[in-house]
Amino acid sequence: MNIPQSHASAILTIDLNAITNNYNMLQRQLGGAECAAVIKADGYGLGAERVGASLAAAGCETFFVAHIEEGIRLRQVVGDAEIHILNGLLPGAADTYKTHNLIPVLGSLREIGAWKVYTKENHLPCDIHVDTGMLRLGLPPDELRQIANDGELVSGLNIKNVMSHLASADELHSPQSGKQLKAFKQAREVLPMGAASFANSSGIFRGAPFHFDLARPGVALFGVNPTADSSNPMQPTIELKARIIQLRDAWAGDTVGYNATYKIKEHTKIATLAVGYADGYLRSLSGRAFAYLDGHKIPLLGRVSMDVVCFDVSQVPVHSCFVGAWVELIGPNHSVDALAGEAGTIGYEVLTNLGSRYHRIYKN
Ligand SMILES: *Cc1c(COP(=O)(O)O)cnc(C)c1O
Repeated sequence: MNIPQSHASAILTIDLNAITNNYNMLQRQLGGAECAAVIKADGYGLGAERVGASLAAAGCETFFVAHIEEGIRLRQVVGDAEIHILNGLLPGAADTYKTHNLIPVLGSLREIGAWKVYTKENHLPCDIHVDTGMLRLGLPPDELRQIANDGELVSGLNIKNVMSHLASADELHSPQSGKQLKAFKQAREVLPMGAASFANSSGIFRGAPFHFDLARPGVALFGVNPTADSSNPMQPTIELKARIIQLRDAWAGDTVGYNATYKIKEHTKIATLAVGYADGYLRSLSGRAFAYLDGHKIPLLGRVSMDVVCFDVSQVPVHSCFVGAWVELIGPNHSVDALAGEAGTIGYEVLTNLGSRYHRIYKN
């Protein structure tokens, strides 16, 4: 179903060219190491298949997703690029890996044992994830010790990558990254086979000691700032704009929206926009967000509703302020990171919540 753009009341524009530019920038940052692309959660909300196809065309040969279903869908568009599944090997899933040419990231002796049996003859590849202090996924220290004492546990496996994941790479002064780096190097002494993969987006900007052979950036590809304390080196990749669907006047004592959380102090012009929390315009933005109308900064009034939200447009010149006018929610004046800050969250969550009701435009 293709509804014409003239009917759209909210448009999400995704710049595939900016995403491949960001990929190329990260690849340059990495020098000789390889740059993979992590495009789990539907490519951080921007469309894994469109993003995957563009990155594959730009030369990316290695992809990571979380779920096996994401890998199956991605396989249709990335040719014979490697697709690694971060969530690993659930009991009974080995055949699916084989059928769709997917690589499991194994994170326990249980998974390693099952894959060893399954690949005895076919030697299908796998990765091994070692936990270095996040306690989420990956071999716990005691299982790594068991491998150190008994190499048989991993013998015969076709190991592509040995990897670990940073917990605090976005905090410049956290001592955790250095500790994890040390633990990962020790793990490599036990598991020296295949390539070493360690850095996510922020990890890449921690410098060469974090790069190893293969980096796994996700969010930086999509323009979110991977460097906590400095200006964003990435290109923005999305714009989100919504239309004014009603304009009205309000007077001292009137209240706006559910639960009357905002009380009007003096004559105010209110614009109602066709976007709400059902579109991933988070309810925590209530009373805190800003947007831009024809370059003028406008504050959000009251609560975010399911389908609509109200802004104070009193300060905007009348010629810019009309039903049908487009308001910039995310764009050159207001980044994903800025909106995330207003919502009390991180850019990752803003992106992965971008709604399915937006009219999507992909720019090449
Ligand atoms: C999500 C994820 C990444 C990518 O992280 P970003 O911070 O988005 O760059 C890399 N590795 C693993 C294991 C992940 O789960």
